[in-house]
Amino acid sequence: MTTVAEAEKIILGQIKSYGTESVPFEDAIGRVLAEDLTADRDLPPCNRVTMDGIAISYAAFESGITAFNIIGTMPAGVAPIDITKPNDCVEIMTGAALPYTTDTIVRYEDVEIKNGIATLLTDKITKGQSIHYKGKDKKQGEIVAPANEYITPAHISMAASVGKSMLLVKKLPRVVIISTGDELVNVTETPTPYQVRRSNSYAVKAVLQQHGLFADTLHIPDEPIETRTQIEKCLAQYDAIILSGGISMGKFDYVPQALEELKVEKLFHKVEQRPGKPFWFGAHLSGVLVFAFPGNPVSTFMCLHRYFLPWLERSVGIFLKPAYAQLNENITFTPPLQYFAQVKLKLCKHGHLHATPVEGHGSGDFANLIDTDAFMELPLEQSIFKKDEVYRIWPFKKIM
Ligand code: AMP
Ligand code: MG
Repeated sequence: MTTVAEAEKIILGQIKSYGTESVPFEDAIGRVLAEDLTADRDLPPCNRVTMDGIAISYAAFESGITAFNIIGTMPAGVAPIDITKPNDCVEIMTGAALPYTTDTIVRYEDVEIKNGIATLLTDKITKGQSIHYKGKDKKQGEIVAPANEYITPAHISMAASVGKSMLLVKKLPRVVIISTGDELVNVTETPTPYQVRRSNSYAVKAVLQQHGLFADTLHIPDEPIETRTQIEKCLAQYDAIILSGGISMGKFDYVPQALEELKVEKLFHKVEQRPGKPFWFGAHLSGVLVFAFPGNPVSTFMCLHRYFLPWLERSVGIFLKPAYAQLNENITFTPPLQYFAQVKLKLCKHGHLHATPVEGHGSGDFANLIDTDAFMELPLEQSIFKKDEVYRIWPFKKIM
């Protein structure tokens, strides 16, 4: 049987680049930037005032002048008004461009204005105060956001600031999620006590959607010809196929046979792990990858996070650092399998991430996923995992 480490190595050996595409910047959230974003001009583009008040010449203050004639008022967005005499000043608002003949701002709180004269109420004035100098943040042409990073709201803000209405992003693979199983009914149907509503394809679709990937879904019955025909069509249309169910030892598990007949080379079948042991992975000659996960919802969910997402991230140029957490309770797990324990995470005030195991009832217990934040990957060689020991985690929710 393949180990988790081997399975990961084989999958990451199948990383592919799917090219790039240009998308409107507003639609680019969650995608991966494929170009460096550069400043189209200095940031800020002028000596920008950071307080409402008056603009003066520091030399005038230094020479003992404490009352200034207001020669004009400047909101943000207008060309600067210059002063000509030492005892002149300009009333000026936050965001306005500093007049070239002034060099210091005195905030409203430190002046009294009467009959067009601004009198200083303080002698604690520093030359150049309350000014954000031109180019202080970035110089024209400088990289403001490098390629190969996820586009966050801060990137959207930066793209808007530098006038990039279209962004070059990594193209995502075309993915289809295929659920299998005659016991599965539509969400809108009322199942008999022997049936279940399909949920895996929606779970997978939702996770991929969080990565900006909009996958198609398809359901196929437990029937060998139909299984083969449908998978064959998908092999011609998609870059990656995610299957759930139909890959175990059951009499109605037709997926491995269909894949074999369709010349999808099996790279491994069965991984030393729980949940998700029956996982099947292969590649078609055309380059299409097939991730066939066991149907149990927790197995599908775990395999998706442990194998598919890292493959997807690497394929779009993202190399995430592993995350770790400290166990809050002892765990004993004796089978010779790598255990993916469901855990609840808590970020403590000392900066430690604590993981509390969530008691599950096997890989079919998907109700547990609601109370769980991550899978904790416990090493194969051990069977006792002690409180306070630190292990790798695969989070699937925002950490609270
Ligand atoms: P299988 O891997 O096909 O043997 O499926 C194992 C079990 O997982 C089935 O008996 C179902 O209860 C459940 N299952 C399989 N596929 C799905 C699905 N798409 N949605 C929800 N449950 C599923
Ligand atoms: Mg099945």
